[in-house]
Amino acid sequence: MTFSPGFHGIHVAPVATTHERIRWLPPLPRANRIRIREHTCICRSTQYELCEAGGLAFIRRFKAFQGRMLIRETDWLVTARAAQLWALLLRGQAR
Ligand SMILES: [Zn+2]
Repeated sequence: MTFSPGFHGIHVAPVATTHERIRWLPPLPRANRIRIREHTCICRSTQYELCEAGGLAFIRRFKAFQGRMLIRETDWLVTARAAQLWALLLRGQAR
């Protein structure tokens, strides 16, 4: 697939040798309204969203797996911790 110039969003850096291991969990319907604060570029096979709901925040991961989209999410965290984890993820320092 090709994408026009200016199409691309945030790209996640390649994972660093030493990085924080994120605990990815099956998603649970814990809130009616989830606000997506940021998301990574859809040109990559794995995409991430920084989400907020009910005063907490978490990262959601969409990964193509055997022809299906596998969805996982982090623990729901206080907003500052989720923002920190998001920054680490983008820099390749958490995965
Ligand atoms: Zn892209």
